[in-house]
This record gives sequence, C-alpha cells and structure tokens, in this order.
Amino acid sequence: MLGAAMDALDHLRDHLFEIWQGQSAMDGITPNALWQFTPPPDDLIRQNIAPNPAAAATHLANWRDGLDTRTASLHQAVLGALDLVHWQFAYKTSELESRFFDHYAFFELIGPTGHFRSHQCNVYFGYWGPDLFYPAHYHEAEELYFVISGKAIFAADGTAPKELGPTHQTFHASWQPHWMTTGANAVLTLILCRGNGLTGAPVLCAK
Ligand code: ZN
Repeated sequence: MLGAAMDALDHLRDHLFEIWQGQSAMDGITPNALWQFTPPPDDLIRQNIAPNPAAAATHLANWRDGLDTRTASLHQAVLGALDLVHWQFAYKTSELESRFFDHYAFFELIGPTGHFRSHQCNVYFGYWGPDLFYPAHYHEAEELYFVISGKAIFAADGTAPKELGPTHQTFHASWQPHWMTTGANAVLTLILCRGNGLTGAPVLCAK
C-alpha cells in the first residue's frame, strides 16, 4: 500500500489498535481484556479484498443513536468502513432461517483471510439485529466477544446465560458450544480468536 491514501479500513485498524494498546478513551477499562486475551498482531499485511454487501449492513448504517459513550468512537469507525468490508455469513442459507441472513453479518478485519492478513489471531466485527436466535455452534479457536453497542444474551455450555452490553466480554473455550439471543436491541460485537483453528468455520450443533 506504499503511497496509497489511508482509507476507512486503515482508520478502523488504527482505532482498534489504540484501544487494544490502552491508548484511547476505553483505556479506562482495566485490565485491558483484549490485550490479555491476545496481544495486538505485528504481522499485518493489507490485502486487496473486494467489498461484499450484506442486508444487515444497511441496518447497521442507520444505527447512529443511543451509543455508549465509551464505545461510540469504535462504533463510528465501523460505520465509516461499511462500504469497504467483505461481509460474510459463515453458514449456508439452508442451515438457518432466511430471516437470519437479512439481519446478521460479520467481517474479518484481521486474520488469515482478513482485510489485514495475520496468522497470529482473528479480529471480526459481527452484527445481529433485534429478535434473532443464533443457534448453538462451536469451533476450535478460542474466542473473546466484546460488546460494542446494544445488548444480547450470551450462553455457553456449562455457564449461566448472561445479558451483556457495551464493554462487556465473554470467553468461549475451544470446541465449547455457545449461542446468542437478541431481544428489542441489536448488538454490534468485536470478536477476537486465538490459538488453533483460525481458518476453521463454525459448526452448528446437531438439533
Ligand atoms: Zn464462536
């Protein structure tokens, strides 16, 4: 990217790194759970990945009110990059109800197949609209969810379901089934993954 102008994905990466390194307003959250989970990667290489649209992105684009002051700048940085990101869905349309795919999407900012390639960790941003049930699934990589905006009930095998809002976090161990429910609110999350299985897709649990 020598000589190329900074774009909204670069700004999102830079803002996330400020938070990750404890240099931003969210530095008030101590200890820095993101860093404790995995340090910021030092092997990033920007990839030329074409944008991929998602219906959910249009819902997210309209979400500008009621933001938490601690996380609003990160939310805004995500909104700034909406048109550049390659939205993904992880599941086949036959696996989940069709309504799900109009109200959910995620993108890989950092990772083996992300906008910024890294082999050290994954960073995803995921959006789920109101009144959605994300069924139980699992994957090999260990995972930290960090809620940027909105709220949802997070549940995992062996733990009591809990409602999480802005700055709240939850951890999923390797292969631990977990699921999520939204109510009146949508939820925007930052998702970090570490360990083995960074390129592995999540698998839905058998019903
Ligand atoms: Zn997961």
